[in-house]
Amino acid sequence: MASEHGEQFQRLSSSELVRSRSGPPVSAAQGGGGVACASSARLALVIDRNDALRALVDSEFDVLVVGGGITGAGVALDASTRGYSVALLERADYAAGTSSRSSKLVHGGLRYLQNFDLGLVREALLERQLLVKLAPHLVRPLPLVVPAFDGARPDRLMGMGLNLYDVMSVERGRRKGRRGRRGGAGEGARGSDGAGEGTAADRSWSPERHRMISGEEVLELLPALAPRDPTGGYLFYDCQTDDARLVLTVLGEAERFGAVCANRVGVVGLLEGDGRARGARAIDLESGEELAVRAANVVNATGVWADELRPGELHDEADVPRIRPSRGTHLTLSHEDLPLVGGAIVPAGEGRSIFALPWLGRTLVGTTDNDYEGSLEHIHPSAQDIEYLLEAVNSFFATSLSPADLTGAYAGVRPLISTGDSRKSVDISRKAELYETSSGMITITGGKLTTWRRMAKLTVDRLVERDAREAPCRTHEIPLGQAIAVDELPRVEGVPQESYPALAARYGYAAHEVLALAAERGELAQPIVPGLPDLLAEVALAARREQARSVGDVLLRRTRLGLLAARALEDASPPVHRVADVLARELGWSEQRTRAEVERFAEEARAEGIVPE
Ligand SMILES: Cc1cc2nc3c(=O)[nH]c(=O)nc-3n(C[C@H](O)[C@H](O)[C@H](O)COP(=O)(O)OP(=O)(O)OC[C@H]3O[C@@H](n4cnc5c(N)ncnc54)[C@H](O)[C@@H]3O)c2cc1C
Repeated sequence: MASEHGEQFQRLSSSELVRSRSGPPVSAAQGGGGVACASSARLALVIDRNDALRALVDSEFDVLVVGGGITGAGVALDASTRGYSVALLERADYAAGTSSRSSKLVHGGLRYLQNFDLGLVREALLERQLLVKLAPHLVRPLPLVVPAFDGARPDRLMGMGLNLYDVMSVERGRRKGRRGRRGGAGEGARGSDGAGEGTAADRSWSPERHRMISGEEVLELLPALAPRDPTGGYLFYDCQTDDARLVLTVLGEAERFGAVCANRVGVVGLLEGDGRARGARAIDLESGEELAVRAANVVNATGVWADELRPGELHDEADVPRIRPSRGTHLTLSHEDLPLVGGAIVPAGEGRSIFALPWLGRTLVGTTDNDYEGSLEHIHPSAQDIEYLLEAVNSFFATSLSPADLTGAYAGVRPLISTGDSRKSVDISRKAELYETSSGMITITGGKLTTWRRMAKLTVDRLVERDAREAPCRTHEIPLGQAIAVDELPRVEGVPQESYPALAARYGYAAHEVLALAAERGELAQPIVPGLPDLLAEVALAARREQARSVGDVLLRRTRLGLLAARALEDASPPVHRVADVLARELGWSEQRTRAEVERFAEEARAEGIVPE
């Protein structure tokens, strides 16, 4: 089967169906030499959806991944780099589930130390380090501050936790060399040529140890605290990313190794042969057509929806863990209203804390963490959650911010694993769960954005073991998205200065493509929302190379304007029309369809509650 598939792909490649791929995938049976693909210069973006659909029905795959969040994207990358032929189906849009609604932290999770989840924290800290190395443009060190007031010593328990955090973040065998490589925010791995192959390991980022800082230093990092006149605090480091872009980048890399990915294709059942899962029945949600995608193995990476795929099968298993969704809400504010350079740990009552973080030019506040029983279709931030977060912020920063000051809000649900324990979700472990059910389908869920690579490894290790193959994991050495220095980008007339760093951070090398579009069609050099760096050229690129199919895909996930400037997108505003017009040209929409798409976005924005009331 596998070599047959290889031939199939050679045919597809030669007819240029698989555009961004540098060569056909090598099947596992052929020795798993896929990593060779990584050496060529490339633009790691997703192939055209129609081409992907054709490839899906024409081919038989080694692995079918269901779900296009970070977990599914990670499995697709891991499996394809080990030589498996891979298909990935996403029912909505890539990252439309939990993976676009996180706190955007790539972190060990200081608070999990309270639960003595030491293994989880250590694993996440090591992944944090690795991800800065593999995607230095997308995963960036962030200074975080725990301030103290009135000359008080910062909390000693916190100091002990930070000591442990420091110790656990250092790779074994590398502690001695650590001093020479340490660096604060923005240093370390952020070399001009990014995470180039082969040498990435030599430039790894290692955070400075946490330390006490003066009141002045606290204010440099948290100017918003000026009214409270902090007298000192702890400074430590974690990392931050753009979660949806991380998913798209990982998918782009998976595609370079031969994975075929399509969004808006929902899996509705499994195909079976001899009682084993041999692919899936799926619906193309754009055309309504049913497709059969054949595959030797099926991986369920549907996050909080994991129990929905073949619930009957799951019930047959005695000790299959169940998903227990927990809702988390975030708010965004303008930098002027709550100016931050680093992040702050903000007390939020009853021993809980939330983050206030600088993110993409705004301030991001979150998160809540409460059991959730509503519909999983659209997760709305509740008025109660918004009030809770604003209360914590106002009391900590001595501000009087109200919902009217918010630039956006969003909520998501964590796929926490219930063990039958009645503890509140804040106490439940963020560990990943992998289980195999009667048809051989492997489900991987739970975990964190930070630990996607480990979750993927766990899953593909299981496949490899099942197939009795020799195919070690390679994702620790595969750069993600080819980082680039801002000054390597060509200047294009009409493109605002602030767009260049934003493009380099979002796309890495592929920012060249955005700028080429802006140079070719001058009107695309303009920002989508005046004053913000995201360009109309990104809309065209999103349609051509990232399978964006709707205004919401562009505003909520390809760019993050829906989270950062929701009020500028209300009531079919000019930016929404501009996005729809660019998409119309790219996707061949009629005038009527374009109007309907503008209205559809208004409905989506309402359902998602991105404009706080
Ligand atoms: C509020 C909040 C804050 C968080 N903050 C952080 C953080 O700062 N750092 C961190 O490390 N982690 C964080 N997390 C956790 C992290 O976001 C999640 O663990 C991770 O995103 C889960 O990814 P996933 O791919 O498993 O699920 P998802 O991203 O939900 O992906 C599952 C996908 O499967 C698709 N799907 C479902 N059913 C089907 C079907 N039948 N056919 C095809 N596709 C289907 C869905 O549309 C969805 O896109 C946070 C989570 C929340 C909720």
